[in-house]
Parts: sequence; structure tokens; C-alpha cells
Amino acid sequence: MRAWATEQQRADLRLALVPTMGFFHEGHLSLMRKAAEQADQVVVSLFVNPTQFGPQEDLATYPRNFERDQALAAQEGVAVLFAPEAAAMYPQGFMTHVNVGEALTSPLCGASRPGHFAGVATVVCKLFSIVQPQVAVFGEKDMQQVAVIRRMTADLDLGVEIIAHPTIREPDGLAMSSRNSYLRPEERVSALSLSQALVLARTLVAQGQTRSPDLLARLRDFILSFPHTSVDYLSVVHRHSLQDMAEVHEESMLALAVQIGGRVRLIDNGPLYPALNILNTSLCNE
Ligand code: AMP
Repeated sequence: MRAWATEQQRADLRLALVPTMGFFHEGHLSLMRKAAEQADQVVVSLFVNPTQFGPQEDLATYPRNFERDQALAAQEGVAVLFAPEAAAMYPQGFMTHVNVGEALTSPLCGASRPGHFAGVATVVCKLFSIVQPQVAVFGEKDMQQVAVIRRMTADLDLGVEIIAHPTIREPDGLAMSSRNSYLRPEERVSALSLSQALVLARTLVAQGQTRSPDLLARLRDFILSFPHTSVDYLSVVHRHSLQDMAEVHEESMLALAVQIGGRVRLIDNGPLYPALNILNTSLCNE
């Protein structure tokens, strides 16, 4: 991988990297298309990274279909699908990890997945080092991951431009995820509790419900009104710092994780003032 990447750099070609865990859906493919706009060659990594899974998590059962992924990446014009073995990434004696500060890694997903972001930061740092891309594309669906990667890239002077791509959704609003394949047919409707909570949150905020505790209480009841749901976290946070906000304002995001049927953990997030730019424009015009 590195030899190929070095050849491309010598030929003055820009490389874009899209890190993934495979089992591609339209979200992954849209990241590949975005990457193709940014560079001469696109590298997609496919690595179900063991260090970002907790001991009780779904590493062993994580959905995989390498042949299908290969065909889809080829269709998108991806130059290299880099799919290393775990033993190549973490050979015997491996003992170096990248730990991004707790302010970014301990709330939200970090609270229920201790060590997750150290696993993510370490593998992404290794991938940046192996591929040496000019730019890397990540999905906003994993908002906290984007914040952690941006911080790491700046703090370690990795020199990679980080691009965040909007969340791609099913027609009914469900954020696409490889883990949606775990949902049983009767659980599918409960998975909509996340995207519908985002819609409800925006409606409530537009009606003036801007105190986070009140807003979150309404949203929690809404999510729990769907069968088989339990709330892992539900927070109003600042879009960059990820710190809790007592009052909703322009920079606020709703971030949520919901367990469906006690087995499938889904996440979603979105702004609470989606129409802000339009509002600003019309206010200026007045
Ligand atoms: P994963 O294979 O789930 O680790 O995801 C690989 C990349 O795709 C990450 O940067 C994710 O944020 C991104 N991604 C996953 N789902 C979506 C989606 N529905 N829309 C946009 N990007 C996504």
C-alpha cells in the first residue's frame, strides 16, 4: 500500500482516503464520490478494527461481504481497496495508542464504549501514515468520530485535510448503517425513533422550546413510546466541543444513541436550527 502511495505522490497525484469497516451502503458510496471530487485517486480502506470494539460488542458478528464491497468500490472507480489483516495492523508486540483528550472522547459514545475512540484514533493515524493522503472523507453520522479525528490531525500535525460528508438516509429517514442489517422486521419501525426524534426536536425548538432539559425530556418520552427501545444517550451538545448545552442555540446539535431490542445500538445526530442560514438571509433582507 505504501509503495503504491509513494509512486502516486512522485507522479504528483493527490490521494483521498475513505476509511471504512465495509458492508457498503449508499453512505459509504457517497463518501467515495466526494473523495473522487477532491483528489486524483481514491483509496478506500476496509478494516473491521478490533481495537475499537469493546469485549461485549459485535466484532465477531459485524456484517461482512468482501466480494460485494469489491464490486461496489470498483464501480465507483476506487483505485485501491486496502483491506489489511488484523495481524498486519497489530503485529505481536504492538503497544502504541493515540489517546485524544477526554473532553472529546469521554461523553456520548465514549461513555458507553470506553476505549472506542482510542481504537479509532490509533487505526486512523496508522491509515494516514500508510496511505499518506492529502484528504480524508468521513461521515457526519459519526459526528464525535469526526471531532476526534479533526483534533488528532491538528494536534499531531498529520497534514491531512478532513472533510465531513452529510448523513445519507433511507427514504423514511433512517440513517444508513451497516448495523441496520441486524434489525428484525418488527424492530425496523422502532429504528425510526432516532430520525423522528430529530424532526420533533427541530419542531419543538422552532416553537420556542430551547431549554435543553425540557426538550430532552419530551424527546426521551417520544423515543420510549416506540416498542423495544431504550435510550443510551440523548444530549444537546456544541457541534465542535461536544460539550453539553443547557440552552439550545445555533451551534447546538442533538446527538442520540438508542438500543433496539436490547441488541442493536443505533446512533444519529443533527442540527437543531436547520434553517438558520435561510433565516439569516431573510432577516438581512428585511
Ligand atoms: P463504517 O464503515 O460504519 O465505519 O463507516 C465508514 C465511514 O462511512 C465513516 O466515516 C462513517 O461516518 C461513514 N458513514 C456511515 N454511515 C453513513 C451514512 N449513513 N451517511 C454518510 N456517511 C456514513
